[in-house]
Amino acid sequence: MAAVRRVLIQGGGVGGLTLAAALGQRGVEVDVLEASGPEAVLGVGLSQPNNALAALDEIGVRDACLAVGFAFEPLAIWNPAGVEVASIPPAEGRYGKPSNNAISRPVYNAILREAAEAAGARIRTGSTVWDVTEDADGVEVELATWTGKRTPPVRDQGAGSNRYDLVVGFDGVNSKIREHLFGDRYTPRFTGSACWRITMPRPADLTHIAFAMSGPAKAVLTPISDEQMYFGLVTPEPDNPRFDPADFSRLAKERMQGFSGRIGEMRDGITTDSYVSYAPLYHVTVREPWFRGRIAIAGDAAHTAPPHLAQGAAMAVEDAVTLAAALDEHPTLDRALQAWFERRRDRALFVADMSLALLKQETGGADLTPAETEMLELGIPGAQARIAQEAY
Ligand SMILES: Cc1cc2nc3c(=O)[nH]c(=O)nc-3n(C[C@H](O)[C@H](O)[C@H](O)COP(=O)(O)OP(=O)(O)OC[C@H]3O[C@@H](n4cnc5c(N)ncnc54)[C@H](O)[C@@H]3O)c2cc1C
Repeated sequence: MAAVRRVLIQGGGVGGLTLAAALGQRGVEVDVLEASGPEAVLGVGLSQPNNALAALDEIGVRDACLAVGFAFEPLAIWNPAGVEVASIPPAEGRYGKPSNNAISRPVYNAILREAAEAAGARIRTGSTVWDVTEDADGVEVELATWTGKRTPPVRDQGAGSNRYDLVVGFDGVNSKIREHLFGDRYTPRFTGSACWRITMPRPADLTHIAFAMSGPAKAVLTPISDEQMYFGLVTPEPDNPRFDPADFSRLAKERMQGFSGRIGEMRDGITTDSYVSYAPLYHVTVREPWFRGRIAIAGDAAHTAPPHLAQGAAMAVEDAVTLAAALDEHPTLDRALQAWFERRRDRALFVADMSLALLKQETGGADLTPAETEMLELGIPGAQARIAQEAY
């Protein structure tokens, strides 16, 4: 590959590991720095829409995901008592069947990690960038080690030279690489809502995603394997409160009080032993080139959206395989990064903007901008059709 021979990726999440595999498979030497260990991946699931599956096919892991996940076609709308009132067929497009596969996050992470390592990538957990110094020929990187979740990283002394042709920040919504490139210009904004996620046994007849609203609370039930499903609950939390994890199950159940029937039974099955996670939802979109010189950002670091189209990780995977392709196709780094950004910008920002507009609409729509109101005329089916028909 003419544009790069050695690449450092900060962030070993969905996007970072996909890029590591895609570059490694092209003979590039890749190091991945991941702040946490593999055990830290949240024990919940996510949907892989068929555009994500197509991108995953490029690194050879589509079938592995389908083998352990749960594939489905239509989406169901339930009333608050859990009775199906509508079935929405998947958008037809260029990416084929299945239209969706849902998978456990730790399992997904393990599949990507195995692919990255098989392609020769070195993954260092508990590790991060301390400082970068760029010159005309490369980037000199100083590393640091995380000794604990709540303590700052410690600079590695005497670790020697770490020189790369390119540094990519796939380090999520609070990206330090984004901060390095743009300072505080792109601070993530809280959306006013949060998502509770609870892993539970899958009822035999839950064979596709089901959505149900009760007042401002939205339940999203997703089968992620033959045995498991996850219950997602999006609720307004306007003050962005900090809760004690010990209270998560009680607080989640309180917010589900408006549901009854089979959804009520799922709620009543939640105990203090249930796995419950809580994630405030943020939004940040970088609207200028996602790179400067030899440093770039991608995935959530460049465009984080609420999960209202279930496409964030899909966009990260698309960013990754297209970045590897651009680095392969273009003779110089600058041209490769510019071509990649131009290819990705409109699609990724559309997903982020539409997702935020959908969240605002669901929570009353008071602060919708005219552009968002216009965008919402597409509706979810229209947005999904655009994503399914457009090439990534
Ligand atoms: C509730 C919820 C549900 C969602 N459901 C879906 C869905 O169904 N389908 C879908 O496609 N998307 C979904 N998403 C979005 C999806 O989770 C993200 O868009 C996706 O994980 C982004 O991938 P990424 O690799 O860019 O970032 P991340 O997955 O966030 O990975 C970033 C990695 O960088 C590491 N890191 C962070 N800082 C540093 C540092 N300083 N040094 C080293 N490492 C660092 C982190 O530990 C992490 O491993 C959902 C999001 C939420 C919040």
